[in-house]
Order: sequence, then C-alpha cells, then structure tokens
Amino acid sequence: MRIRTGIGYDSHRFEEGRPLILGGTLIPSDRGLKGHSDADVLIHAIVDALLGAAGEGDIGCHFPDTDPVYEGIASTLLLQKTVEIIYSCGYSIGNIDSTLICEHPKIQPYIAAIKNIIAACCGIPLSDVSVKAKTNEGMGWIGRGKGIAALAIATLEMDQNNQSI
Ligand code: MG
Repeated sequence: MRIRTGIGYDSHRFEEGRPLILGGTLIPSDRGLKGHSDADVLIHAIVDALLGAAGEGDIGCHFPDTDPVYEGIASTLLLQKTVEIIYSCGYSIGNIDSTLICEHPKIQPYIAAIKNIIAACCGIPLSDVSVKAKTNEGMGWIGRGKGIAALAIATLEMDQNNQSI
C-alpha cells in the first residue's frame, strides 16, 4: 500500500449580507464569508489537502475564481469533483482531518452535520472524517472576528498493483 498525505489551508473574511456556509452546512449567523463561490473555507482547505496529497495542484488550478462557472457555486460540488480527480489518479481516500478556527459563532453544534456531508461527498465512512473547531483565543484577525480560517490534512492510499494508473 502506498500512502500519501497532503495539507490544506484557507481563510475568508466576513461580509455582511451573506449566508455562513461551513462544511456544506448553513450556520445561523448575522454575516457570512466573502468569496467567489459560497466561500466554504472548510471545504476549500479539504480540497487543497486532497489535491496536494495527489500532487494535483490546488483549488485555484482546477476551479479558478476568475471563471464565472464557479460564481456562487456550492463548494460541496467542488469537493465531489475533487474526489473524482483523486480516484481518476488511482487513489482512494484514507482519512481527512480538519480544524476550523473561528471566534464566533460557535461551530460545535454543527460538527456532526458537517462530518456527515463531507463523508457523503467523499464516499467514505463517517469514521474517516474528523472536523474540529476552536477559537483563536481572541488574538489576531480571527480573534477580532474579521474572518475564519481552516486547516486540513488528507491521506490517500494506492494499492501497489494500481500504481501504473
Ligand atoms: Mg477559499
């Protein structure tokens, strides 16, 4: 079994008048994140981790924010397309771990729903998806409530017999 890992990071600033979508889940909030797509910072970090593990570039390579096709698009669709890329390279997903860093609102009540959506998009068991959330202890731009950041790591597996794909 050949194992590869990839990391992902993303950040988006808050903007008034937008819905807050994290991990494909609508989070009650008085403001959302600014972005070309639905600005789902968690999914974007996971997409980068998956693409990084496969050596397939990053989210901007595959889904450029200059392309009107992706304006307002649900990032869960981008994740599903990313999984197709991963599988076409001959990999399967081992596990995904991730952390949201957000001062407000509290994410904890929505973690279970978020994990379910990510597992469904990736076609992997719930036990292979981890989503954690924490604050930045009031420090820096996150602590001042300017935006949200997300970190992710993904492990891909390839059967040795499959390496010629
Ligand atoms: Mg992003």
